Amino acid sequence: MPARRRSSKPLGPAACEGDARKLEFIEDMTANADEVQLRVLSEILKRNAETEYLRRYGMGGSTERKIFKERVPVVAYEDLKSEIQRIADGDRSAIISAIPISEFLTSSGTSAGERKLMPTIDEELDRKQLLYSLLMPVMNVSVPGLDKGKALYFLFVKPWTTTPGGLPARPVLTSYYNSRHFRQHPADPYTNYTSPTAAILCPDAAQSMYAQMLCGLLHRLDVLRIGAVFASGLLRAIRFLRLNWRCLAEDIRAGFLSSNTIITDPSVHAAITARLCCPDPSLAEFIAGECAVEDWAGIITRIWPNTKYLDVIVTGAMAQYVPTLEYYSGGLPMACTMYASSECYFGLNLRPMCRPDEVSYTIMPNMGYFEFIPLSNDTNESSTPEVSSENIPVELSEVEEGREYELVVTTYAGLYRYRVGDILRVTGFHNAAPMFRFVRRKNVLLSIESDKTDEADLQAAVDRASKLIEPCGARVVEYTSQAYTKVIPGHYVIYWELMLRNGGEMPGAKILERCCHEMEGAFNSVYRQSRVDGSIGPLEIRVVRPGTFEELMDYAISRGASINQYKAPRCVTFQPIIELLDSRVISTHFSSKLPSWTPRVMHA
Ligand code: AMP
Repeated sequence: MPARRRSSKPLGPAACEGDARKLEFIEDMTANADEVQLRVLSEILKRNAETEYLRRYGMGGSTERKIFKERVPVVAYEDLKSEIQRIADGDRSAIISAIPISEFLTSSGTSAGERKLMPTIDEELDRKQLLYSLLMPVMNVSVPGLDKGKALYFLFVKPWTTTPGGLPARPVLTSYYNSRHFRQHPADPYTNYTSPTAAILCPDAAQSMYAQMLCGLLHRLDVLRIGAVFASGLLRAIRFLRLNWRCLAEDIRAGFLSSNTIITDPSVHAAITARLCCPDPSLAEFIAGECAVEDWAGIITRIWPNTKYLDVIVTGAMAQYVPTLEYYSGGLPMACTMYASSECYFGLNLRPMCRPDEVSYTIMPNMGYFEFIPLSNDTNESSTPEVSSENIPVELSEVEEGREYELVVTTYAGLYRYRVGDILRVTGFHNAAPMFRFVRRKNVLLSIESDKTDEADLQAAVDRASKLIEPCGARVVEYTSQAYTKVIPGHYVIYWELMLRNGGEMPGAKILERCCHEMEGAFNSVYRQSRVDGSIGPLEIRVVRPGTFEELMDYAISRGASINQYKAPRCVTFQPIIELLDSRVISTHFSSKLPSWTPRVMHA
């Protein structure tokens, strides 16, 4: 199928010759999207012709797209578990990839409560680096002068583990920041970060944050852009400043880290000591003055007045943070630059200064081979279409503007026709390459940070916790939930309507508090890890008075819902419904303990 070429405004003008080459690369890839996709697929199939996986499906060494699509099935993680387990256990034969799997990237998507393990190979780092190298040339088209200052990016690694076969298993960014691609990147004006590499690579989140914030404050007038990967990360940094500005200002005033500093990692200590070279009482006074003001509206621009934009993802689950970021930044533009996952880095936003609700990502056809399962217009949140003759996956060059699709990827690292779980809508084209709005993650009900809780997880957690109220003669008759992000960190709110048996009594506060803890213990490891590292706050149960869910149904029916098909929503986002629920709350309870989470040897 030939790529349908469409005209679109060329990118540019480029800020410099180097940028011009990068923009040309984007134009070339997007203009020849289908040719590039054919080449990528053929490369993947050729090098992996002898793998057990492709042989199993009778590819017979073919590199033909048609044959590939006829013979190799569209799969989900559960279908690959045994292959992944064998690799994790140390089988080095060519199971899915001719090039040995170098490590596993632990996705925030989970399987049986644990992070999914995504195979990767070393050369994928080159592809990631290439995609990163396109971001600034695109940004420079809209925002000139970024080479004249610094970037304050809050970047973190997480502790990692190894599989029984000895392969590292760690989050994708932990892998990238530890790679030579990041650590030994030749200096250029656009990687002039305020954070020392030692601080970024420190696995202790509190030390890392303290060091990064301190350096950001020291260079406050040089900072031209502020970012984190996700909006939730940047808000966490602001909260950290709110809690720690006195210590930070004190260290700046003194010109050295105080004797009881939390910075104990020697390399972070050394990096900070090199920067904190002399006392700066006036900077300390300024920071203390700004932070002591009760109202933190516009705090970002008050402290870093030359910031031109925030570089954070505020699409998908992160859209809920836009108003809070607007508040703290006094309305700075928010640039969502990239769309990526543990499976594969997908693409970039060619108009990064657009409004958050207008963000579209252009999938770069050189990153992997992409297919798209068309969704019918009535596909709702809970249904996950099976691939059938009605919704055969289409090519990157075949998607239609206005339609929604589920993304399927074939990677250089040995995933073939793998369902990523993201639903995207085509909003237009750049040359022959479609641009996609991120619509939602399949089956995700609640998300505060990278956690993803689906309806089944929530049901299982409610079932488990409600056992604790049975002895009182009480049970949960209805429930729903909300990702509550008006405070930092956000937390899950679960609304419970209880019913008492004859002679039953309302469970006391202590029992309901234990229910909160029990629910947290039932959630997957990403949730529990985020609770332990403080990026999600304690779960809250709000008990509503009897009859509340009946009222909710009346409300939905008054707005056109069918009585026959009505089901209580398991998550609410619509403000009037939240207000209705909140107005019926009779008691609130919080988890008072952290759920258990420990890094463990990874099994598929
Ligand atoms: P992980 O596998 O944990 O790295 O998570 C990857 C997932 O995060 C993707 O499949 C998306 O669901 C989500 N994601 C990544 N980038 C974006 C983005 N720019 N906008 C919205 N969601 C994103």
